[in-house]
Amino acid sequence: MSLSDAELARYARHIVLPQVGGAGQVILKAAKIAVIGAGGIGSAAIPALSGAGIGSLTIVDDDVVDVTNLQRQTIFRERDVGRGKAGLAADFARALNREVEAHAFIERIEAGNATELIADHDLVLDGCDNFATRLAVSDACVALGIPLISAAAIQFQGQVGLFRGKPCYRCFVGDAFDAEDCDNCSELGVLGALTGTVGNFAALMAIRAIVGIGEDAAGKLFLFDGQTLEWRTMRLPADPGCTVCCQPSA
Ligand SMILES: [Zn+2]
Repeated sequence: MSLSDAELARYARHIVLPQVGGAGQVILKAAKIAVIGAGGIGSAAIPALSGAGIGSLTIVDDDVVDVTNLQRQTIFRERDVGRGKAGLAADFARALNREVEAHAFIERIEAGNATELIADHDLVLDGCDNFATRLAVSDACVALGIPLISAAAIQFQGQVGLFRGKPCYRCFVGDAFDAEDCDNCSELGVLGALTGTVGNFAALMAIRAIVGIGEDAAGKLFLFDGQTLEWRTMRLPADPGCTVCCQPSA
């Protein structure tokens, strides 16, 4: 795989970076990323990934745009209210960068379909809005050996982590939330600019993980407080009792 003259021009600001260069840009072009959720986090991550030249983006979301989404989901327009988010987000990605293949899946990810939807991807970026989906995505990523960036934002708090098998996202939250949608922006609120911060940070982590820039961030959780403006880093231990990543293989 190589870059055309048009791509060399488009990605000039990446290519001058010694950590990316032409070789890194080719790696981004070859990459296939699944973005789960075209909400507040997806609305920031999808433009960042498309602009960066990720060759193939899969966008999974079963929701339609509501007027209350426009405060933070800035890839949508007022005229989009009532229309499906996944298709609109894929249109946005293609309109920003003609080099990107964007595929929309209007589905809710669950244990039954997660493996099929994310198979063959190099990385999954999960910015969905509930624990049951996050756990189903995480379990599928562990089973398929796909790195997972899990990102969440509520009120003024953001968190982003990269998981490569063990520890997994389930080690971090446990099994209690499989059946629950317990963190709900509609009840607790979320600052719009916070979801953008978290979504862009998740996209940055995705790009550095794909290209191999800097120290691998797996096993750490990055927490941002939008009130104090402080970032904290937490190391995540594997849970020896984790039912997904810590079971002896049969
Ligand atoms: Zn685990």
